[in-house]
Amino acid sequence: MSSDQPYEYRRRELVEPDWRRFPGWRTVTREEWESAQWQRAHCIKNARQLRAVLGDLVDERFYADLVDDQQRLATMSMLVPPQMLNTMVPDAPPSTDTFYADPVRRYMIPVASDRRTDWPSHPYATRDSLHEHDMWVAEGLTHRYPTKVLAELLSTCPQYCGHCTRMDLVGNSTPTVDKLKLTLKPVDRYDAILAYLRDHPGVRDVVVSGGDVANVPWRQLESFLMRLLDIESVRDIRLATKALMGLPQHWLQPMVVEGLERVARTAARRGVNLAIHTHVNHVNSLTPLVARAAQTALEVGVRDVRNQGVLLRGVNATSADLLDLCFALQGEAGILPYYFYMCDMIPGAEHWRVAVWQAQQLQHDIMGYLPGYATPRIVCDVPFVGKRWVHMVSEYDRERGISYWTKNYRTSIEAADPDALTRTHPYYDPIDTLPESGQRWWAKQQAADAPRESA
Ligand code: SF4
Repeated sequence: MSSDQPYEYRRRELVEPDWRRFPGWRTVTREEWESAQWQRAHCIKNARQLRAVLGDLVDERFYADLVDDQQRLATMSMLVPPQMLNTMVPDAPPSTDTFYADPVRRYMIPVASDRRTDWPSHPYATRDSLHEHDMWVAEGLTHRYPTKVLAELLSTCPQYCGHCTRMDLVGNSTPTVDKLKLTLKPVDRYDAILAYLRDHPGVRDVVVSGGDVANVPWRQLESFLMRLLDIESVRDIRLATKALMGLPQHWLQPMVVEGLERVARTAARRGVNLAIHTHVNHVNSLTPLVARAAQTALEVGVRDVRNQGVLLRGVNATSADLLDLCFALQGEAGILPYYFYMCDMIPGAEHWRVAVWQAQQLQHDIMGYLPGYATPRIVCDVPFVGKRWVHMVSEYDRERGISYWTKNYRTSIEAADPDALTRTHPYYDPIDTLPESGQRWWAKQQAADAPRESA
């Protein structure tokens, strides 16, 4: 084979970056580092705490930029476990420039100067862009697809991603976003979710999520899962946890590993597919500890560990970035590359989002390198539709960046809607990716404050 290929595969061993390169962690021992308690207690929640770790490696202007973002623009509060900070500029002590340029930093520690000033938000961006809350059939339970549900057990995570699609609900309120609150006591919420599933045997697949299930106290989570496994009609359970990567120490605690083994054994006995879905966006985030957490889950009987990344400009939106990540997931960590979601249309996300045509090009460019079953699908989560593979667009106005999508099922809010299966639903490209004429059209629309239907 010619070596002159658009992408050259090279196997790279995973490495745990040395956390002692950060002035604030010079004396942190391996034992401390591998402790989930230590990691949780030392999460970075603000610029002051970040400065205490990075010291003067990074200029004051970075911290001011961060504070500015948190005060004026951020939709998520800051929460970065040491494990994740340690994967930023992994090979050397960071400098201001390398820290600014780092792909993991760009989505975990967003700063004001990252955001676009021309179109910071798309005119159609909304807080709950997927309308999950509208489709709640019990508190935290979204019934969007015919046979599947999403159960949000809680609204917190051990880490907060700047681009979080559930910014409406997840995390602490920020100066710009007053978060929706779950109101039921957890025990009542779980009861209501389980009651709905018992009453709806057509639902066979439950994504147990949040937030992140790593923040549910283990005993509560195990008891919920065991009760879920008692429901005959439930055949697939997927546990959603970015913490498998962001805080692998959590998934390596003996109490969690032993509990997971009990749940996996029960699932296997009942013929239920139990999987973990995690969320890794960049190859730098994969370290030996992350691989150990994934392998441990597989060893105790979880059937599969899969990755659902988010396609983000400045982070991973090149074919080389995606393939580097997928080869490391598949070849080094035992995690199946499953999906890359296009970043959803939430406020303040235009600098991260890519256009549908760019996603289609990326899907084209990553085909043929990985095993077919480990080649991820790039999907657009179209409001009121659900996940669609990016090549499934039915019409596409490239000038204005409006794609139209159809679906083959009714969501829970469309039971009586005669047009539900024939209507098309729009999705919008970031305006800065449009040709001049398209950008002018949107500027005029905005100036005239035109009604949304006119788009
Ligand atoms: S881990 Fe998931 S739910 Fe939590 S902040 Fe990140 S994207 Fe949102």
